[in-house]
Amino acid sequence: MYDVIVIGGGPAGLSAALNFGRGLKETLVIDAGEPRNKVAEVSNGFLTQDDISPYEFREKARKDVLKYDNVSLTNDRVTDINKDGEDFIISTELDEFKSRQVLLATGLKEETPDIENFDEFYGTSAFYCPWCDGYELKGKRIAVMADEDSTSNLVMLIANWSDDLIICTDGKSLLNDEDKAMLKNKGFDYNESPVSKMVGSDGMLEKLEFEDGTSEVVEGMFAKMNWETDFEFLETLGPDREDDGGLRTNPVGETSVKGLFTAGETKTGVSSQLINAAASGADVAKSMMIGLMKEEF
Ligand SMILES: Cc1cc2nc3c(=O)[nH]c(=O)nc-3n(C[C@H](O)[C@H](O)[C@H](O)COP(=O)(O)OP(=O)(O)OC[C@H]3O[C@@H](n4cnc5c(N)ncnc54)[C@H](O)[C@@H]3O)c2cc1C
Repeated sequence: MYDVIVIGGGPAGLSAALNFGRGLKETLVIDAGEPRNKVAEVSNGFLTQDDISPYEFREKARKDVLKYDNVSLTNDRVTDINKDGEDFIISTELDEFKSRQVLLATGLKEETPDIENFDEFYGTSAFYCPWCDGYELKGKRIAVMADEDSTSNLVMLIANWSDDLIICTDGKSLLNDEDKAMLKNKGFDYNESPVSKMVGSDGMLEKLEFEDGTSEVVEGMFAKMNWETDFEFLETLGPDREDDGGLRTNPVGETSVKGLFTAGETKTGVSSQLINAAASGADVAKSMMIGLMKEEF
């Protein structure tokens, strides 16, 4: 029986596990090994860890955590969680485990734009987060692919790094009159025909082809993604959801199921950065331990 099972070994889960280790709690991290940034060549913006490969970051983090004898890690995927009285039964593809508390640090499920070849460029010259990758594309010819709710905000952000922008859409979310007026005023090009194909080599984007037969030379892209936390393994427990589908939690990350907590991007339901996810994992772990300590005292 573990005190805590952490599901997900990204920065949120491993930062939590580091704190559980130091708090003398018997802890198991179960990680399917597919962090959202697995497509990225480098990760930026984490103090002392700037410009590091996501793989190296994860290996260093795992090493920190596994120094503590009371923390172990298994490479496996959780398929179901059930309650047994106050405790949790966690089923995985390979095994079954029991714990007093569970921390969901499973990140986000990400839906990328439906464009031919998108995956060839995602993480090397096509991105969604300007805070992570804007610096690398500064001054370049950048395509910005947003939807009707995000165009003005995304264009305003990306314009910080380059004034050579072409705004495109998925063909379904067309630009509204206000956005068109703003783009004209700022001197940015746009094409409302859906992008049909991305062209380039070695991960470096060179051209966008549009369904209307035109094309645009570009050197990079920022595109809006869709994210959700609707993981199948949560179906049995069915924690309460907000109207937007995100998990309903109290400020310290506890869901409507007592003892089931969330941290990192699973808690916020939106994309952030490694440093935010790690901080969230550390914060939530301490709140969880205070609960255990109160029970034990
Ligand atoms: C292309 C790209 C570039 C990025 N660049 C940067 C950058 O430069 N700087 C930066 O700070 N951030 C960057 N990010 C964002 C960063 O990846 C996230 O902020 C961070 O990974 C979130 O951490 P997390 O711990 O919440 O989730 P994740 O890192 O996604 O970790 C979740 C973990 O849970 C595991 N998991 C999921 N389901 C299960 C299950 N059923 N059983 C077991 N394990 C499971 C996954 O396999 C994964 O290992 C980038 C993201 C992308 C997509």
